[in-house]
Amino acid sequence: MLKLYNTLTRKIEEFKALEDKKVGLYTCGPTVYNYAHIGNLRTYVFEDILKRVLLYNKYKIKHVMNITDVGHLTDDADFGEDKLEKAARKTNKDAWEIADFYTQAFQNNIEDLNILEPDIWCKATDHIKEQIKLVQALIDKGLTYETSDGIYFDTTKIDDYGKLANLKNQELKAGARVEMGEKKNPHDFALWKWSEQSELHPERSEGSRQQSELHPERSESSAKKPKRQMEWEAPFGKAQGKFGRMGFPGWHIECSAMSIKYLGDQFDIHCGGIDHLPVHHTNEIAQSEAYTGKKPWVKYWLHGEFLLINSGKMAKSEDNFITLDTIKDKGFSPLSYRYFLLQTHYRKQLNFSWEALEAAKNGLDRLYRLVLETKKMETDDSAPETKDKFLELINDDLNIPEALALVWDGLKDRSISYETLLNFDKVLGLGLDNIKEEVEIPSQVQALLDKRAKAREEKDWKKSDEIREEIEKMGYRLEDSDEGQRVVK
Ligand code: AMP
Ligand code: ZN
Repeated sequence: MLKLYNTLTRKIEEFKALEDKKVGLYTCGPTVYNYAHIGNLRTYVFEDILKRVLLYNKYKIKHVMNITDVGHLTDDADFGEDKLEKAARKTNKDAWEIADFYTQAFQNNIEDLNILEPDIWCKATDHIKEQIKLVQALIDKGLTYETSDGIYFDTTKIDDYGKLANLKNQELKAGARVEMGEKKNPHDFALWKWSEQSELHPERSEGSRQQSELHPERSESSAKKPKRQMEWEAPFGKAQGKFGRMGFPGWHIECSAMSIKYLGDQFDIHCGGIDHLPVHHTNEIAQSEAYTGKKPWVKYWLHGEFLLINSGKMAKSEDNFITLDTIKDKGFSPLSYRYFLLQTHYRKQLNFSWEALEAAKNGLDRLYRLVLETKKMETDDSAPETKDKFLELINDDLNIPEALALVWDGLKDRSISYETLLNFDKVLGLGLDNIKEEVEIPSQVQALLDKRAKAREEKDWKKSDEIREEIEKMGYRLEDSDEGQRVVK
């Protein structure tokens, strides 16, 4: 029996799929204006473990992940600048280039961390039609109002707003600050925003508003002017915006529109980081249930806790963030980072430090050595109790730290077979089926290695590369890390 902590009921519950052994899973994806940091990646590793545990329990999964490439504003609520537009302006690129670049970087991270890919990746900008349809339906139901900057959802019109985060009567979380603008109630949120005034449309601040001029970015003469690049014409609204009905979707509406499109009006599981609980997920529920009229929209909500650094939250908007590339540049493998994460339960905060990562790396190296020894030994199949215990632990709200402890015990007393280890690794995803064996290095190769080390000291990269090729021709492969060169067969 699989048990999961459901944020919606604040209880550990037995998981029962809506339909037999089929699971619809939606995970909020990255906002692609910058690299994902290792805190973001903690959330994706937790979701990957959840998915692998479901697969281990023989569920068929349809997993959808969005890419937020429009609508996420700098204050994380309804005001400020679009994060992508801002990044584009700062770098003199266009918002589409920024989105493509960071989407690719994110997908590389996913692959490096051995995270199983979603079945469907969906971009907010590819689903504007679906979002407009949803906003229109909420307008038709009388649940919205219009201000000079957008169309807002009136959260007082539904009776259970805030049930996920237990918010009551428009009260705010301690310390929360809400910019009201023309909003009627603190919790109301934007479904659609009109394009900004003047700043990003300098060429439009006076004069007429011809359709052709609404997209001056497409004419060469204005190629270098700053402008809003992501905007669409809406069929609704009184066109109060200075630029008619040109605008863009609010941040939350994309997740409702795309999850409903791909997973239906009701589905099984929705996940994200804990910071999404009071606003983003709360608003997703409000608009989705108002739209479909069916409750609950999602049966199980799971949230991963934060990765901290120096005891503060790691955030893209702060300067405290570390990327997976930095980890790799320092000579750690992405799987060492994955192993570091697996040692802590997903609902506990976790503090990152380089020392802790180093310890995880050493732990994983040792684990690999023991797994290789097991592979070479003729061990009997593991006791059935070991397999049962593993299943019991992972099914107990994803208790991976204890499942790892079980693996260690089995390796130490040699009671676990290689076959069982590979089977458990379907959940752990530590690459146990592909451990590179360190090899005995023949003196010829060692001599080349020494020559190459010297070339590298002298920063003679050409020579270093030539020697690498020579070594590779001899059937060996080289990996460079902080600790020097490593040879694998
Ligand atoms: P974003 O790209 O900002 O939309 O965030 C992507 C995911 O990372 C979301 O599920 C967030 O909840 C999650 N997240 C953000 N910061 C952290 C953190 N420090 N630790 C863990 N997850 C985080
Ligand atoms: Zn979302």
